[in-house]
Amino acid sequence: MTTVIQANNLDLTYQTNDGPVHALKGVDLDINKGDFVSFIGPSGCGKTTFLRAIADLEQPTGGTLTVNGMTPEQARQSRAYGYVFQAAGLYPWRTIGDNIRLPLEIMGYPKSDMAQRVTEVLELVHLEGFEKKFPWQLSGGMQQRASIARALAFDADILLMDEPFGALDEIVRDHLNEQLLELWARTNKTIGFVTHSIPEAVYLSTKIVVMSPRPGRITDIIDSPLPKERPLDIRDTPEFLEIAHRVREGLREGHAYDD
Ligand code: ADP
Ligand code: MG
Repeated sequence: MTTVIQANNLDLTYQTNDGPVHALKGVDLDINKGDFVSFIGPSGCGKTTFLRAIADLEQPTGGTLTVNGMTPEQARQSRAYGYVFQAAGLYPWRTIGDNIRLPLEIMGYPKSDMAQRVTEVLELVHLEGFEKKFPWQLSGGMQQRASIARALAFDADILLMDEPFGALDEIVRDHLNEQLLELWARTNKTIGFVTHSIPEAVYLSTKIVVMSPRPGRITDIIDSPLPKERPLDIRDTPEFLEIAHRVREGLREGHAYDD
């Protein structure tokens, strides 16, 4: 098994006017190639900070962090990952196709290959035929799929997703969860996924990382025994409910009652 992301005793402390904020403390985690890893925990437990550290958007203050065996900076330069933010963040004045093309343009991707690549990623998220539309012509769920397509533009092995479906209603979210699993199975990517939803974390993941705040740390890591093939109604099985229960227990233990 290849280790794609490795954190050893990772610390990240922000210096603020109110003093230091320990966003991550003593985080140890191995993510293997092809894993679907969810990070779940209350606001402020360091989920976003951890994803941003992997993406070289924040600098750890202690411990080590490697991505594909490299520093996060080297991994960023070799375009090791795509990043999907909580809000779709599409430029309203650009068409869907032009939004997806943007990172390719910035990195000087060969023009001759661009059209082909845009077609491929739109197909992966089932948005064939929407290339010429503008973001406002798409529903919220479709916009989020477009932003996933943009993150897939470079065909990076790692996809980092920070609460990508948090703002969507439950039916749309169910549908996107199914599609994301299908995309993961088809592309064999390694996915790091932040969520607040226990069912979403259990449904999607091969590994669930439960976190707790002040300082941000990992309280439980659950390797899912569920099969890779997962119809939505797997959520009614005893195996599923058992994992969900363990996640809930982990969250409860990490909960501070002065919140
Ligand atoms: P989560 O994504 O789990 O809600 P974050 O990683 O965003 O948590 O934040 C972890 C902690 O670090 C919180 O207490 C938050 O207020 C603090 N924090 C996040 N970003 C910064 C920053 N740029 N400067 C100072 N404190 C920050
Ligand atoms: Mg966050």
